[in-house]
Amino acid sequence: MIALCVHGGAGDRQRSPDDEHLLRALREALDAGWAVLETGGSALDAVQVAIGTLEDEPLFNAGRGASLALDGAVELDAALMEGATERAGAVIGVQRVRNPIAAARAVLEHCPHVIMAGAGAERFAQEHGCDMVEPEFFITERARRALAHALERRQQQYGTVGAVALDMRGVLAAGNSTGGTSGKLSGRVGDTPIIGAGTYANQTVAVACTGEGEYFIRVGAALRLAMLVECASYALEHAATEVLQRVAQLGGRGGLIAIDRNGAIAMPFNTTSMARAWRTSQGDYGCALW
Ligand code: ASP
Repeated sequence: MIALCVHGGAGDRQRSPDDEHLLRALREALDAGWAVLETGGSALDAVQVAIGTLEDEPLFNAGRGASLALDGAVELDAALMEGATERAGAVIGVQRVRNPIAAARAVLEHCPHVIMAGAGAERFAQEHGCDMVEPEFFITERARRALAHALERRQQQYGTVGAVALDMRGVLAAGNSTGGTSGKLSGRVGDTPIIGAGTYANQTVAVACTGEGEYFIRVGAALRLAMLVECASYALEHAATEVLQRVAQLGGRGGLIAIDRNGAIAMPFNTTSMARAWRTSQGDYGCALW
């Protein structure tokens, strides 16, 4: 059994001419990750490849095109975790690593620490072969407009990307990458790079959350979901819904994707939209925004 699910962020978006483009990009990311799993590759590689594909697509709030902080700069966060080994790596606030998910992978593989931030994270990524770019590379006209819009209307932009996968060996993995919320204060850290909040995987379940990160952190969302499945024997769907209800009780909005070791997938959200695509070797295959 192999299975893969990717998300392109949860938010209260309107229908837009970009929708087709968004769906196509999600399918491409799904296909790229699927090709890894199908040929016997690891869940970790599949998640990294799928997320890297979405980071390269400027429509999403990750890598190029990511949301801008209040001062107009990009500060990118990413995390990756492998369930079987419970190895994890994350970077916070990087501004020069072309694919932050690759930096998270480098931390996971080669670093004595789990989370690296800022200049130290960039130095580490560069030393481990990650492509580096100037900060301007990430800034698109669309993200500038989104920042102006966010400031006027006090609305936040979503579009974080993430993936969860189950490989042929039964290993699970989860990952996420984001520019954070549009108009955030410089230095703000959301749930995405916090292991157990926005991103988590163990032998039982892999989870990637998206939405208003502050609430997911307060709920300990991703780890909470895993514990409901592992310690309280909740079915995946039930655990995912329960966690999102807890987020909503605090006033938070967003969604999550989760997968268990049997290849079951849950994708709840309490916003109007969550961009998502999924596929299992049992023939389940889909892509949706609403
Ligand atoms: N959760 C992300 C953050 O708070 C944003 C998102 O998922 O859109 O940084």
